[in-house]
Amino acid sequence: MDHSYDLIVLGAGSGGLAAAKRAASYGAKVAIVEGDRVGGTCVIRGCVPKKLLVYGADYWKKITISESFGVSYKDVHLNMEHLLVNVREEVDRLNLLHIDLLKKSGVDLIDGWGSFSDPKSINISRDLTGAIERRIEGNQILIAVGGRPRRPSIPGSELGWVSDDMFLQKSFPKHVLVVGAGFIACEFACILNSLGIQVTQLIRGSRLLRGFDKDLATALEVNLKSNGVRIVFGHSPIAISGSPGDLKVSTSDNDFIACEALLFATGRSPFLDGLRLDLAAVRTENNRIPVDLDQCTNVPHIFAVGDVTDRVNLTPVAIEEGRAFADSNYGKLKRRCNHDLVGKAVFTEPEIASVGFSEEKAIKVFGEENIKIYTSCFRPSSQALHKQGPRCFLKLITRSENQKVIGCHMVGECAAEIIQMASISIGMGATKIDFDKTMAIHPTIAEEFVTMR
Ligand code: NAP
Repeated sequence: MDHSYDLIVLGAGSGGLAAAKRAASYGAKVAIVEGDRVGGTCVIRGCVPKKLLVYGADYWKKITISESFGVSYKDVHLNMEHLLVNVREEVDRLNLLHIDLLKKSGVDLIDGWGSFSDPKSINISRDLTGAIERRIEGNQILIAVGGRPRRPSIPGSELGWVSDDMFLQKSFPKHVLVVGAGFIACEFACILNSLGIQVTQLIRGSRLLRGFDKDLATALEVNLKSNGVRIVFGHSPIAISGSPGDLKVSTSDNDFIACEALLFATGRSPFLDGLRLDLAAVRTENNRIPVDLDQCTNVPHIFAVGDVTDRVNLTPVAIEEGRAFADSNYGKLKRRCNHDLVGKAVFTEPEIASVGFSEEKAIKVFGEENIKIYTSCFRPSSQALHKQGPRCFLKLITRSENQKVIGCHMVGECAAEIIQMASISIGMGATKIDFDKTMAIHPTIAEEFVTMR
């Protein structure tokens, strides 16, 4: 294998893979360096296995309410071990698929950890602190190493899990304490709760999902509580003692919570360990790599995409940043990733999805008198027979002056799928009149978005 490349990509996660394959498709000679498994957080220990657990939890939950639809089962039971094994097998399949796709696109996969030895050279080692095995050179270098879960520095924190650990378990214990109120905490609180596990959620603030529209967070909170999740607001863990399976978590109100396991879902940080950015003079800021609109760092031939830049930490954003970088630098197609109107979903029960301004942000930016809000709350027809479960909640936020839709939010079945499609029209500048002119598809949940008064 030659040692010099047009492009060296550090990290084979979503952003790195997208950039490497796109650059190679234009004829660039590309190497991608990965010390962990090809696929990165999303495929190996994030979005993909998490969504499979969401499906597993949902099947189990639906079985318990299927009788009202005339479906009954004998001796029904949940085999969590089987679910977790199958999820890991699917992850293994996808890992191999991504390796194969790299090969087919002509990218050299270099198995090892990369670190700068100078601005144009990358040392490769077997492990993060190990001896250097080889050195490669690149005209351009793209840093796409992603992030890692953050664990609070409190005594005994090593006794807790982070999200990566959730996918390594053989089974889940009977009572899990989930720390945090963000995406990961809420998603795992719901997965575990639906699988029949007792869940306590410990939240230092006073609400769930900071940054999302408050009505969505409230709807989720109501449902979590009605499903039996105990939510403790206003407190943090300060120390953990005991041993796995029998933990005692001391809390900031001088109390304690006994549990069998604890999940820290307390945010993620860019993974800069061992990169030796100093040897390439790449500037960092608050433990992240700042980049310009073209993904360029302070060093003109070194770029960064995805979570390592710590802006919008979502897989599709990393992919689009990676592709925009490759198109611009290797495809003679100068373009930039558009970070406006990034749709988001939280795969909780009920599902939450949003695009555009929350009500709080719209009031702050435009003033309360300059926006108009439409909402609808109803029981979906899928619950008509058993009359249980979370209600759907839909919300449109519009500008009064031109009726432009600037925010679209939903809680309920298929929220992510529905908001994905709504975000096309909102990105094109749709108004409330356009929504009203659209013929409804009946009976659906999404039809409410085009019939709101
Ligand atoms: P997050 O959404 O930033 O939430 C972190 C939570 O932990 C917040 O509730 C925060 O409280 C709390 N927290 C932070 N430090 C704490 C401490 N020392 N003690 C107690 N609580 C603490 O982070 P995340 O849930 O870990 O997810 C990380 C990122 O992954 C997200 O930002 C998202 O971009 C991505 N992600 C996306 C999806 C999806 O698209 N469905 C799913 C999972 C992850 P405050 O609110 O008070 O700060």
